[in-house]
Amino acid sequence: MIEEPPISDKIKAEIHGFDNYSFRKDKGRSNTMNVREIEAKHILNRSKLRGDGYTINPYVGCQHACVYCYACFMKRFSQHDEPWGEFVDVKINAAELFVQDFRKVKDGEGAFIGSATDAYHPLESEYELTRKILQKIVVVQKSSLIPKEFSVSILTKSDLVLRDIDLLKQIPGAEVGFSVSMPDEKARRLFEPGAKPVERRVAALKTLRGEGIATFAFIAPILQGITDLPAIFESLHGNVAYVFGEALNRHCGNMAQVLRAVSQYDRDLRSSFEKTCKDRNYWNFVEQTFRDLAEKHGIKVAGFFSHLEKDKD
Ligand code: SF4
Repeated sequence: MIEEPPISDKIKAEIHGFDNYSFRKDKGRSNTMNVREIEAKHILNRSKLRGDGYTINPYVGCQHACVYCYACFMKRFSQHDEPWGEFVDVKINAAELFVQDFRKVKDGEGAFIGSATDAYHPLESEYELTRKILQKIVVVQKSSLIPKEFSVSILTKSDLVLRDIDLLKQIPGAEVGFSVSMPDEKARRLFEPGAKPVERRVAALKTLRGEGIATFAFIAPILQGITDLPAIFESLHGNVAYVFGEALNRHCGNMAQVLRAVSQYDRDLRSSFEKTCKDRNYWNFVEQTFRDLAEKHGIKVAGFFSHLEKDKD
């Protein structure tokens, strides 16, 4: 997920549409996943995350289960006590809600899909909520009754998005971004255990680009000693128009589990990892390296977030 500027958890929950639904049906627990079907009240939620527009999150909870995920605090609002990554609430009426909510949209606005939970995690193969919303967007835009331009920006870690190329091609200005930060599979399994390997994400970017769909990458979190920026930029060459970069946000209550994963990756890395977290010189160097690599590969930098401003000391 992408983090928004400092605001309260309550407002964050509203932005991502986590506070406005009612329980409908418990699908029960299978293996380690608890799935509930719920009825939301809205699917388009106002946000300034990517300019003026809306967010769309068809699910609450995410099967990708990234240890660094910023969205895990949302458990409070969905009243789950399972660990992050072990529950998903499915907004079963998402597509119908889109038609209802679309009335408030102004011409030229758009939505960021997957701002807080990945809209293409595995359950999407079964429920197809994201696909149904894209279908509605295509239909309403073609309708002469509602002649509004409405575009989408999707951020995901899953190549399941390729399933929807047919629809994305019909939505003017649609773009798809992939989060990429650890091409090393050992790291990916530790930090993003439910997500697809980065190699598949890069291949998906290439396919989307080949289909004429705009693409970008979100290189985050950049983990010192783990994220190989030169290798990532090499793989993105020619596959994306722009990138965001972001250091790990250490202020989300996930630091203990992140450090555990760092130790599992390489037990000698932990102390230097901790030391460099707040080191401004180190992060200035990383940002400069990031910008130099982007320039070398002809990729625009849309933003770089070190999160150092949040440190009190
Ligand atoms: S893909 Fe990972 S970071 Fe993004 S919402 Fe899912 S668990 Fe969180």
